[in-house]
Amino acid sequence: MPEYTTGVKEIDDKLYARYDVLVNNLRAYNPEFDIERLNAAFDFAAGAHNKTLRKDGSPYITHPIEVAIIMADMSMDLDAIIAALLHDVIEDTDYSFKDIASRFGEPVAKLVDGVTKLTRINFVSKEEEQMENLRKMLMAMAKDIRVIIIKICDRLHNMRTIEYHKDGKRREKSLETMQVYAPLAHRLGMARLKTELEDLSLRCLDPVAYGEITAELDVRIGDKADFLEKVCKEIENRVKEEGINAQIESRIKQIYSIYKKMFSQNKAIFEIYDLFAVRVIVEDKDDCFAVLGLIHDLYHPMPGRFKDYISTPKPNRYQSLHTTIVGEGVPFEAQIRTREMHEIAEYGIAAHWKYKENVDDITQDERLKWVRILLESQQDADAEEFIKNLRAEMFIDEVFVFTPKGDVINLPAGSIPIDFAYAIHSAVGNRMSGVTINGRIAPLDYQLKNGDIVEVLSQNSHGPTRDWLKMVKTSEARNKIKQWFKREKREENIHQGKQDFEAELKRSGITMAMLSQDDVLQQVLRKLSFASVEELYGAVGYGGITALRAVNRIRDELIRMNRLQSEKSSVERVMHNLKKHQPNDSGVVIEGLDNCLIKFARCCAPVPGDEITGFVTKGFGVSIHRCDCINVTEKQRDEGRWVRADWANDKNSLYTAGMRLSCKDKDGLAMDVFGVLSGMKISMQSFNAKTIEDGYCLITLAARVHDADELESLIRKLKNINGVLEVNRYGH
Ligand code: MN
Repeated sequence: MPEYTTGVKEIDDKLYARYDVLVNNLRAYNPEFDIERLNAAFDFAAGAHNKTLRKDGSPYITHPIEVAIIMADMSMDLDAIIAALLHDVIEDTDYSFKDIASRFGEPVAKLVDGVTKLTRINFVSKEEEQMENLRKMLMAMAKDIRVIIIKICDRLHNMRTIEYHKDGKRREKSLETMQVYAPLAHRLGMARLKTELEDLSLRCLDPVAYGEITAELDVRIGDKADFLEKVCKEIENRVKEEGINAQIESRIKQIYSIYKKMFSQNKAIFEIYDLFAVRVIVEDKDDCFAVLGLIHDLYHPMPGRFKDYISTPKPNRYQSLHTTIVGEGVPFEAQIRTREMHEIAEYGIAAHWKYKENVDDITQDERLKWVRILLESQQDADAEEFIKNLRAEMFIDEVFVFTPKGDVINLPAGSIPIDFAYAIHSAVGNRMSGVTINGRIAPLDYQLKNGDIVEVLSQNSHGPTRDWLKMVKTSEARNKIKQWFKREKREENIHQGKQDFEAELKRSGITMAMLSQDDVLQQVLRKLSFASVEELYGAVGYGGITALRAVNRIRDELIRMNRLQSEKSSVERVMHNLKKHQPNDSGVVIEGLDNCLIKFARCCAPVPGDEITGFVTKGFGVSIHRCDCINVTEKQRDEGRWVRADWANDKNSLYTAGMRLSCKDKDGLAMDVFGVLSGMKISMQSFNAKTIEDGYCLITLAARVHDADELESLIRKLKNINGVLEVNRYGH
């Protein structure tokens, strides 16, 4: 037994009850483990954190114990469990790396040290820092993946106890979890942890929707509880008759994935078919197929829904048979797998340690290949691009296709033959002239499907075109194409880049004179690591950086300078301008929610440049209002349904803006208004004029504009028309 005591028997009892859980869990998969070492680690950690309390009032050591228990659920090795017990010692107490190394050995100390470095990283930080931080994290992962596993378990326990934190902190942690830790867990195949992390984050990020979904689910489960129980029983009996040993459980779809379906596909909960699933866990592969046959006998299978991930595992090694069947008119999914497949499905890369798939080789694991590729291919990408690519890599679903020789190539879903060619080798991509899919000629932008046999046709004289950059899905292909342009077409790149850059500059209203003031251009070149302006043009030309981004950096720099000079604009406002997320089609980004449905409120008709906010409507996505809209009231703000929204820097979209003109009625007034619009090449969506009282009239019109600047100059010109007294923005 360890010796540590808090001096209060009640607290000790609770503590030791949890410690016993840890010991018993460990013993279950590692009966011979060195309990003295574990006890020593417990005593050391508890002593080191002595006097420190968690926010809920319990002794600090409860947290490392819970983290270690989560690790033991995944059957991790003893060094990793001990490191989990010690994971906050370097960060929060006076003990050092050496203190841990001398007591528990260098491997444990290295793990704790790695976790400490990750703990110090704030992923929701400025772009450059964020990239450096993420790079560090990827390096740590490539070195010893257990560091990340401990960190993910640490985050899971912190999220489970998040209610003790203040509101702002809760949101920040939840956002970070949603953006970094859950996708990482997903990428490492740790489905069980990923699911819980997402649901816990969602509860903080959108409490209203979370509450609605859980309430709705309670009703539906109430309806179907008997049904599910009956189905499980039926399958169990049938399987037993055949002499197969199986464990059967039912499960409800994860809240976050229901949320995504409701918002991104705009579905009502009763339209989601796979709310319920039955999972059958058997002893070996033959049993899997036998059980599949029995289930298809018992219920009516839905055509086209059967998936065999046993013969073709997913890249994260997920294996299972999936089928959707209908019983009593209710569709539900059945997942059939062996115990080992089950643990790999739930714990992913962490299951390595249990099944001892050559632990030393873990850095070569397929599930980590993307980390290496990303680190290699992103040497000279800029921060924003790197983060975008990392997010994309972490979130992907995949397709599997075959080479003519039968080798399997994994690519992100939505990949095209060009991605395939570059995945094989850059030389194959650079010489690609065409492609056949399953023996037939196909276009280069064909979307690859699972099982396609892809043959690349090539020509020595061929090279990529700039269009390819817009078509490809993988960052690997994009980078290789850029490399080709960078190498092969220097002069052409500089020429093309200069044109693009100057056009973009003009569009944004920045003059050359502004560029030379205070060395703005030089500053930006240095920040982007370009030695000269030619180099910047070259990079714009080959696609290393877009003209829009280069100009945005210049604008950011101008804003920064301006702030330094006047200190007038608040930091908040500047941060607002700097913050850029992945846009969706509407040109608006919503904090914490990707791909949600966006509507523009008709009451205030916001256009880019307006300060905006989003309102989470019941079941219909997010509607975007101007911050100064009369419908945005303090009372509603308190209801937690308002989310932060920003404009993406999208120069091409048009937005409808409404305005009202008070005028003196005179001949030709309407013609003058039309004249202003056509002079500015702005198209009109609606126009209405009515006489109000002696000699006055009111015109309402809606026009399609790019942004608030354009709208403002339109309003200015309208005001200059003889007879127009006043112009106000209005809904439409
Ligand atoms: Mn911790």
